[in-house]
Amino acid sequence: KLYNHVQDLKGSIRVYCRVRPFLPGQANGLSTADPIDDRNIRILTPSKYGKEGQKTFCFNKVFGPSATQEEVFSDTQPLIRSVLDGYNVCIFAYGQTGSGKTYTMTGPKELTEEGLGVNYRALGDLFLISEQRKDVISYDVSVQMIEIYNEQVRDLLVTDGSNKRLEIRNSSQKGINVPDANIVPVSSTSDVIYLMNLGHKNRVVSSTAMNDRSSRSHSCVTVHVQGKDLTSGTILRGCMHLVDLAGSERVDKSEVVGDRLKEAQHINKSLSALGDVISSLSQKNSHVPYRNSKLTQLLQDSLGGQAKTLMFVHISPEPDAIGETISTLKFAERVS
Ligand code: ADP
Ligand code: MG
Repeated sequence: KLYNHVQDLKGSIRVYCRVRPFLPGQANGLSTADPIDDRNIRILTPSKYGKEGQKTFCFNKVFGPSATQEEVFSDTQPLIRSVLDGYNVCIFAYGQTGSGKTYTMTGPKELTEEGLGVNYRALGDLFLISEQRKDVISYDVSVQMIEIYNEQVRDLLVTDGSNKRLEIRNSSQKGINVPDANIVPVSSTSDVIYLMNLGHKNRVVSSTAMNDRSSRSHSCVTVHVQGKDLTSGTILRGCMHLVDLAGSERVDKSEVVGDRLKEAQHINKSLSALGDVISSLSQKNSHVPYRNSKLTQLLQDSLGGQAKTLMFVHISPEPDAIGETISTLKFAERVS
């Protein structure tokens, strides 16, 4: 078990796949995604998508429809420790609208203790480990929450409805940062729940045919950790970005116009920029194209180098989602 963790930590980019269960009230048809074991998943494709009818994909980890929030988080825990050791970490949720991104990162609409998603559990673990280390290192933890919508950065931690456009800066002291977004010190899970509720209320949501709560923006919770070694006085800094990406569905350009079309173009552009950055990092290319989107600019010093990346790719089980499932798996193949 320990050996597995060591193995898993060797690569700096990990891709986990999670299949959503059929939803209550939905006809329980045959799932297109069939987890074979904890690393392989078989996709059943209707004949129009390929002659073979089925194809197997391999991931660092596969979570089937009955995986609990606790199980999903347990393989993420080593990353939390490395934030407290001074590394930068990015955790992404990728997938089409309705595939379970927000469920993984935040939880179901009616939050229960068991339902708590990666964001809450990650912060909970940060507090727990920093408490265990308190005789050696004193930690300060603070949180920002921003949204990228149509290539504009906005603060989600506002109470006055202001939605000023913010700039991403690069300073020698702080690295890449958004200085004008509110940054709030936190010391307990209830602080975090309060802030995330505020952020979710401020998030841009607009209805699409697929899901009336669909989010057409990327939301990013950034956790800044500063630790002071109590004997030497040395300061270490780490940060963790928890990113709930906009829906990855390919929008049929003949059906959307105006604002919807513009949103769709921005989303396609930034998701492909993210794919380009991660795949060039995993191929160890010398040029990494960070500058092609606001998302990759924001995450520049947390992708690559010493930083660690975890991508959750989400799959909807319904046969009529197969087209999006295949494009999601192609994205996953590119970045792993
Ligand atoms: P997305 O954020 O990708 O659009 P959601 O997280 O909102 O998708 O999920 C769509 C619906 O499916 C929600 O009602 C959510 O509660 C439910 N859901 C998603 N994943 C799971 C899961 N693993 N178990 C149970 N319900 C889930
Ligand atoms: Mg969502």
